[in-house]
Amino acid sequence: MYHFARSTNSFYVDCFINLRDSAVNIISRLESIVGRKNVSIEQADLENFGLDRTSVYCSNPRVIVFPTSIDQIQEVIYLANDLEVPIVPSGGRTGLSGGAVASNSEIVLSMNKMNSILDVNLNDRTVTVEAGATTQEVQEEAYKNGLFYPVNFASVGSSQIGGNVATNAGGVNVIKYGMTRDWVSGITAVTGSGELLVLNKSLIKNNTGYDFRHLFIGSEGTLGIICQVTLKLTEPPPPSSVFILGVSKFKDLLEVLKIFQSKLSLQAFEFFCDHALEKVIEVHGHSKPFVTYAPFYALIDFENQDNTSQDEALKLYSECVDKKLVLDGVMSESIAQSRNMWKLREDISETLWHYQPYKNDLSVRISKMPNFLDEIDSFIKKSYPNFEVIWYGHIGDGNLHLNILKPDELNKSEFKSRCDDISINLGKLVESFDGSISAEHGVGLLKRNYLKFSKSSGEINLMAEVKKVFDPKGILNPGKLL
Ligand SMILES: Cc1cc2nc3c(=O)[nH]c(=O)nc-3n(C[C@H](O)[C@H](O)[C@H](O)COP(=O)(O)OP(=O)(O)OC[C@H]3O[C@@H](n4cnc5c(N)ncnc54)[C@H](O)[C@@H]3O)c2cc1C
Repeated sequence: MYHFARSTNSFYVDCFINLRDSAVNIISRLESIVGRKNVSIEQADLENFGLDRTSVYCSNPRVIVFPTSIDQIQEVIYLANDLEVPIVPSGGRTGLSGGAVASNSEIVLSMNKMNSILDVNLNDRTVTVEAGATTQEVQEEAYKNGLFYPVNFASVGSSQIGGNVATNAGGVNVIKYGMTRDWVSGITAVTGSGELLVLNKSLIKNNTGYDFRHLFIGSEGTLGIICQVTLKLTEPPPPSSVFILGVSKFKDLLEVLKIFQSKLSLQAFEFFCDHALEKVIEVHGHSKPFVTYAPFYALIDFENQDNTSQDEALKLYSECVDKKLVLDGVMSESIAQSRNMWKLREDISETLWHYQPYKNDLSVRISKMPNFLDEIDSFIKKSYPNFEVIWYGHIGDGNLHLNILKPDELNKSEFKSRCDDISINLGKLVESFDGSISAEHGVGLLKRNYLKFSKSSGEINLMAEVKKVFDPKGILNPGKLL
């Protein structure tokens, strides 16, 4: 996978030899740190480990390294500083912003072999894991101990806790439980200069100045390698029921949210548009929730502690129908039905991969969502009438996932360049609505050029200065985020 120049010209021959020597040197030095079996230059690994779930980049790392201890991570960081070779920290590679992409001969540092559950403390109600443990493993470990880890989304089987922390992952339960940030009580990390930091020591109260734990949350692998994480756990939620409602106007969803939120404890309030539903049904063969057509749907997951909440939900539903907010609806009567109803929402992201989507993960204050969505819709309809737009997301969090599907007549790069133009216009709109160009997926490579629409130049300059403090030689994830 090394693209060395082949030429009889002596300059290029020298380059070729030097590059080859340095490549061999790096690999043998990595092998001496982590052992031969934990270094890979296998073609399949070079192709896989340089990519996340964005479909627009090429994979071209130099080598993949799988450390098995914090000491080894430190040694790899020292080596990368010494040779000035960039490192891409790599988790489950389910990211949607290109943060784990390696396309410039980097060392990919994969956390796949550091995935142990280290400790469960029932007094502290915490679990401590190596960063390579998957989100689902943490959820299962909490459950085994009668507790609950609430961060949840469709990719939890592959995404890793280190990746979740580095992206501050959100998901479907944010309305009730918040983002990953709200559940991190301690982080052990190695900075870009190789310094080991044990941050917050899992304390609840710790007012001793700057809390670097929060800098690492959402840092997208640009400040250090997250090695271990202590996560808070909570009591399991009561059983819940699910309602799916159809509405004719997006703005009615906000009224429905207000009405349901006033009387019930909601675990999720999600939405999707008619096209999203059509595609999920087409690809997965799921059944429609009801026959009445609706342009938008809400999925409401509400706690049903003592079985009285279902009656309350039905009353609220009638109120919404009387107020002409809702066209039709259906409520689950069993866990199996709830699960099937959730599939209509959870399968959307995977379904859309079949249509080569250009994804945007936007957020504005909840109250501003209807105007924001209308403006985007009318801009795309006017400027790109052939583009199919799919909306879904987390209404309860002000988070809209905008997906534009590639029309057959455009090739991949023509489509991407049109979408880049759209992103600039979206960025300006986001700025005018005081919103964010990345609600929960991070900035990575995909949104880097649009960061200026969410953060002032003063903030971006300070971010660059902070990066220099933790990673003075800029070896960690260069070109990502900043
Ligand atoms: C079907 C599907 C549904 C999804 N739904 C959601 C959703 O609802 N909400 C949501 O927030 N996200 C969602 N995602 C996106 C993704 O799962 C999250 O961003 C997740 O947190 C990424 O974790 P990962 O381990 O796969 O990280 P990766 O993709 O491997 O990496 C993400 C970033 O973190 C860095 N990183 C990874 N591990 C470390 C480490 N140990 N130390 C330092 N930096 C590290 C990488 O360099 C990169 O910048 C979804 C993805 C898919 C495919």
